Amino acid sequence: MIKKRLGDDRHTLITTEHYPYHLQVSGGKKTAGSHKALIGVGGNIGDTPRRFEHLYWLLKRSRMVTLVETAPIYRNPPFGYLDQADFYNTLILLQTSLTPRQLLHYLLRVERHFGRKRKIKDGPRTLDLDIIFYDDIGIDTERLKIPHPEWMHRNSVLIPLKYMKGRR
Ligand code: ADP
Ligand code: MG
Repeated sequence: MIKKRLGDDRHTLITTEHYPYHLQVSGGKKTAGSHKALIGVGGNIGDTPRRFEHLYWLLKRSRMVTLVETAPIYRNPPFGYLDQADFYNTLILLQTSLTPRQLLHYLLRVERHFGRKRKIKDGPRTLDLDIIFYDDIGIDTERLKIPHPEWMHRNSVLIPLKYMKGRR
């Protein structure tokens, strides 16, 4: 694990075994679909980098999605609800044949697998998975908003995004 300070020591960029990661595409390899979805990943309970490693392997083994790329991990102080541990954030680029709604339900299932419980708004969480982009489409329903309405204001998205090859 390599840590690089970005400003003060509560803002750091962390490099681990699979963050960042980029799929080596070789002929014949099939992806789970042609849609591209950028997933925002966050957490601040327990050993979050270790959980991100488990998430990598879960997505790698999944037949629902192909894990194409990950970003380095950005550690940063909480906002909104301040009385909680610093957050770890990263991004994962997936390919999938799931529709946006199917992908949301899949991600909510993965959150539950990692013990996510919803209590306080902006409060502590083991794993938060948000769909930031899905191809170029826009959706604005109560259950699902794409692009994620806050993405351009959040360093937790903008900073990892700078380090991605397949970024938009
Ligand atoms: P937040 O991510 O804002 O901290 P939650 O993770 O608790 O909050 O998400 C609450 C709900 O947000 C989800 O159940 C989902 O229906 C909705 N939602 C709306 N747009 C999105 C999106 N782009 N990605 C993930 N969830 C979304
Ligand atoms: Mg969420």
